[in-house]
Amino acid sequence: MAAANSDKGTKQQIETAAIVLDCRDHGESDKIITFFCEKLGRITGIAKGAKRSKKRFVNKLEIFSSLRITHTLPQNGRLAFIAEADLLDGFLTLRTDFSCYTTASVMQEIILLATKDMEGDDELYPLLLWAFHNLENQHPPVSVLIFFLIRFYAIIGYCPSLASCHGCGKKLIENESYSFHPQNGSIHCTRCNREQKSTRIQLSCGTLRSLDMALKQPIERLQRLQFTEQSRQEALSFLHLYGRQLFQREIISWAFMDAATNQT
Ligand SMILES: [Zn+2]
Repeated sequence: MAAANSDKGTKQQIETAAIVLDCRDHGESDKIITFFCEKLGRITGIAKGAKRSKKRFVNKLEIFSSLRITHTLPQNGRLAFIAEADLLDGFLTLRTDFSCYTTASVMQEIILLATKDMEGDDELYPLLLWAFHNLENQHPPVSVLIFFLIRFYAIIGYCPSLASCHGCGKKLIENESYSFHPQNGSIHCTRCNREQKSTRIQLSCGTLRSLDMALKQPIERLQRLQFTEQSRQEALSFLHLYGRQLFQREIISWAFMDAATNQT
């Protein structure tokens, strides 16, 4: 049945909830937009006449906006055709507050690095929407980023192993300091780490327990978790180093985020 309808299916329009990750001018009057969509994941589409449109797209295709879009599905590497967009939430703070903007930019960069078009899943879109809502509602950007990243890495299949020492297998011990090994996403206790030569990120037992909680809590309860200032710094360093290792490159927007959050 799907085959019989496939010809029709390529041009069929569907509605999807989507967040704008990137928007570029194209030619005289069009825009090319990359969205992160519910269920579908990332898609890139063309909005014909969007630069001139007074009605269909005006003030809607701004970066980080949450929309309901009507579009075709991209086929054979072509762009989707974006027919209409309705604004669900403009997330204005994410474009006007420097700390929120740079934090959202790190999330955007990591999503663009780690996902491909039309490889959707059920968890990434709600996580991104949760993060943007919390930034918009003035929750500390650094905490929102920590929760977003630890869960993002887990969803894409690279959940670090933080519950016990990779060397001796012992569970976390209070007041012990652990070193994180980004190459295999694991931690070592002080004793096991003596055999390793290169410098690693140090994580306290408290930081590891907080991160473990951040992985296990339902998303709506995440904001109740509190990190101490030391844990926040340790967690950020670890998430940055681990991301660089996973993607084998620097996360460019991280430096801007660091500069913005250190000002506040
Ligand atoms: Zn050990």
